[in-house]
This record gives sequence, C-alpha cells and structure tokens, in this order.
Amino acid sequence: MSRVLFIGLGNMGLPMAKNLVKAGHHVFGFDLSELAMENFSKAGGFRSISLNTEIKDVDFVITMLPSGKLVSDVLLEKNALFKEAREGTTFIDSSTIDVDTAKRLAQTALERGHFMLDAPVSGGTGGAALGTLTFMVGGNIATLERARPLLEAMGKNLFHAGEAGTGQIAKVCNNMLLAIHMIGTSEALNLGKALGMDPKVLSEIMSKSSGSNWSLNTYNPYPGVMENVPASRDYAGGFTVDLMNKDLGLAAESALRSKTPIPLGHGAMDLYRVHAQMGSKHLDFSSIIQFLRPLD
Ligand code: NAD
Repeated sequence: MSRVLFIGLGNMGLPMAKNLVKAGHHVFGFDLSELAMENFSKAGGFRSISLNTEIKDVDFVITMLPSGKLVSDVLLEKNALFKEAREGTTFIDSSTIDVDTAKRLAQTALERGHFMLDAPVSGGTGGAALGTLTFMVGGNIATLERARPLLEAMGKNLFHAGEAGTGQIAKVCNNMLLAIHMIGTSEALNLGKALGMDPKVLSEIMSKSSGSNWSLNTYNPYPGVMENVPASRDYAGGFTVDLMNKDLGLAAESALRSKTPIPLGHGAMDLYRVHAQMGSKHLDFSSIIQFLRPLD
C-alpha cells in the first residue's frame, strides 16, 4: 500500500484516483472544485486539508491537470511542492503538457533529490473509469518499476517511452493522429450517409476493411451507431474540443521547433479551432462530424 497525493480530480483524475483507492492505496485528493473533492471522499478517498502538510506524508504525488503552466505552478511556483516534499518523493505527471516543461520539471525534481515520470495517458474517461488506460512513460526505468503498482491500478498498458519527456512526445504524436483519423472517419460517414447508406452498415464494412481505425471501431462519431460513446449522448462528457485544440497546438509547436512538416496536423488544428469558435469547445471532439455535415 502506498501513500499518494492526487492533484486534479476532473473528468480523468477523479476516476483514476478512485481506482487507486479501490486497489487499497491511501490517497489524499485535491482539486480547486469543492464538488470534485466531495465526490472523491464519497468514494473512500481522503480530502486534502493542507497540501503543505500532506506532501510530507506521501511517497507519491500524481498530477492530472489541464496545462503545463498549472503543473509547473503546483510543483515549482505557487504551491512549490518540490520544495516542500521529503527527499526521495516520486512525482508522476499524467497531464498532457509540452515536452519542454516536462523535461524541465524532471530535471528540477532530480536536482531537489526527487524522482519524476511524465506519464500521460490515452483511453479517455471510459478507460479512466474502467482502469484500462494506456500510460506512455518517460523517465528512469527504476522509477517506473517503483510506480508500476500504482499505474497498473489505473491502466492496462504500460509503455516505457524512453528518457524524461518522451512520454509527452508519444502522447502528442498519438493525439495528432487521433484528430486526423477522427476527421477522416467523420468525412467518410457523412459522405456515405449523404449518398444514401446506413452509417451503421458502412461502419461495419469499413471496420473490416482498409479504412478500419480507432475512431470508427471504438469511438464512432455518428449518432446511433454505437452505444456508450459521446455521439450517443449529444457529445457530452469525453475528451473536449478544447483539450483536442490544446494537444494540436502542442503538436504544431513541436513541429515548428523540429522543422517537421505536418500538413494534416495543421489542417486538423484549423478545423478544430473553427469548430470551437462556433460554440462547441465543451463538446466531445467526435462532434467534429457535425461541423462537417453536408449543406442543407
Ligand atoms: P478537467 O478539466 O476535467 O479536470 C482538471 C481538473 O483540474 C479540474 O477539476 C480543475 O478544477 C482541476 N484544477 C485546475 N487547476 C488546479 C490546481 N491548481 N489545483 C488543483 N486542481 C486544479 O480535465 P481532464 O479531462 O480531467 O484532463 C486532465 C488532463 O488529462 C489534461 O491534461 C488532458 O489533456 C489530459 N487527458 C484528458 C483526456 C480526456 O479524455 N478527458 C484523455 C487523456 C488525457
């Protein structure tokens, strides 16, 4: 049993922290939202009373926050948990953030006598609830082995991507590809429907043909084709257009810095930006199919 401080109990963090509690770990949870803290304590977690006290009483700190700026605020600046923690504390950041911040945090953790992993996830809110997330882990392999029991309580697939920052590299590449195949899948389904075909039958055919992909098979964007996906509940919950825009922005920055052409990545970013501006930023990202629907 480990003692854990979990910071960021949002759509992803809350179910992840709940799975740690279920696995028998002693987990303090902290979020700026009172409702999130209440929901966590209802699930058997310990509400954080004072970060500066609890940080001295845990072996692991997990952050699951919206941006690199916030993770940096919590660990280095505002809350300065790196400074407050006992030497040898292991920090795991599962947020999706930029590679440079991830590397800088890992380096600073090391200088302060701590251990740090960047461990972003894939699998969405469904995977977080079921404990089937994929973790892409950057950092020291011995640290990963120490963190393994915690990560395995929250996920099914655990990959060591390489040194610090490589977890975030894997994540940004994966999510750029995800945006591109979600848009491609949406175009194909809208076209099939406009030409007179049932999207469910078309999905079935393409899923066993060369167009098969995760957006089509597991997260189908066409309403009514699949149960238990955001398309079947008016695109509520799930992975928001806002967060997809954040990830596409991270991909575009990385591409610029590494001088790598990503024309489809840029195209996807343009479409998602306009989609957000038209009032859809809180919808699930599969709602892009609505933006691409045929003209009346
Ligand atoms: P969310 O907005 O639902 O949750 C973020 C939580 O952080 C909120 O509850 C917010 O109150 C809290 N928070 C913000 N600042 C804080 C602070 N200073 N201290 C404590 N709590 C603070 O976001 P999410 O969907 O849970 O995503 C979290 C991270 O996981 C993001 O980096 C996202 O890119 C990544 N991610 C999300 C998904 C998904 O499907 N939603 C999938 C993979 C990865």
